[in-house]
Amino acid sequence: MKIVQTDPAAIREAAAILAQGGLVAFPTETVYGLGADARNDQAVANIFAAKNRPQLNPLIVHVRDLESAAAYAEFDDRARALAARYWPGPLTLVLPRRANGGLSLLVSAGLDSVALRVPAHPTAQALLSGFDGPIAAPSANASGAVSPTRAEHVAQSLGDKVDLIIDDGPCTIGLESTVVDLSGETICVLRHGAVTLEDLTREFGTVADATADTDGTVKSPGMLARHYATNRPLHLNARSAAPNEAYLAFGETGPTRAAATENLSPSGDLTEAAANLFAQLRALDQPQFTAIAVAPIPDHGLGRAINDRLRRAATPS
Ligand code: AMP
Ligand code: MG
Repeated sequence: MKIVQTDPAAIREAAAILAQGGLVAFPTETVYGLGADARNDQAVANIFAAKNRPQLNPLIVHVRDLESAAAYAEFDDRARALAARYWPGPLTLVLPRRANGGLSLLVSAGLDSVALRVPAHPTAQALLSGFDGPIAAPSANASGAVSPTRAEHVAQSLGDKVDLIIDDGPCTIGLESTVVDLSGETICVLRHGAVTLEDLTREFGTVADATADTDGTVKSPGMLARHYATNRPLHLNARSAAPNEAYLAFGETGPTRAAATENLSPSGDLTEAAANLFAQLRALDQPQFTAIAVAPIPDHGLGRAINDRLRRAATPS
């Protein structure tokens, strides 16, 4: 791990690391982010591994401007109005993902939506320009720890799990971005932040608050995000598959009777398995198969996050 003060040389070094699939922590106006190339499944899987996240939840993709964002998601009039008003800034928009936009399916945790933000911070902007691509970035802390608002916090929490930390002093807002879902008819706040419910309501009329139940109690964050589910039933912990089933294997496998097989990681690497998970599930979720049988995945490290997603995908939401 290396900490460098922000300057053009630091930005060039960070952009080169991102291009090679590495991890760079960088400041935004909200908190420090742990960034990876949002088009690279393996690099995005490295984010989950570095944070030791118990869940593969969708990540925010940072882009330079509205024009770049429009390459990855569909913007309706409301989305354009919100972007015009708050970008660059601490607002994240959850929008329909363009299927051929080139983003890793892992950043969307398999969903048909994607969360996009244009940060205002000059170092974040310089990195987005220098890298010239989308950067997936959750907060740069180990899972369960508070979000970092200084480079030292990142170093303490992630240590050698991050290749480079760009230091540009404390974050000015220090709170995560507001997340707004535009997939339904009503604008819906999924996470509160610096852009408030009152701000949004004043300008856009009715805005729903998904973080509170009708009686005002706070919902747990895990209840908020929808999750990817296959159309075919999933049979977990399956050591083999029936001839009319597809098989999602892990590690060394002998010949199976399955109609089609994908292997999450022939060498048994859990980061590689996370990188392949959603793309391979989608590839096997075809009408000619009666079900998808999934091999047992070791329940440690990133394996716990993979098993969590598989259990959710196996249960209709
Ligand atoms: P983080 O990247 O850790 O700052 O958190 C991202 C936030 O955005 C979480 O609260 C996610 O649940 C939410 N989010 C990201 N992508 C999506 C999506 N496609 N659909 C719904 N919520 C999302
Ligand atoms: Mg966080």
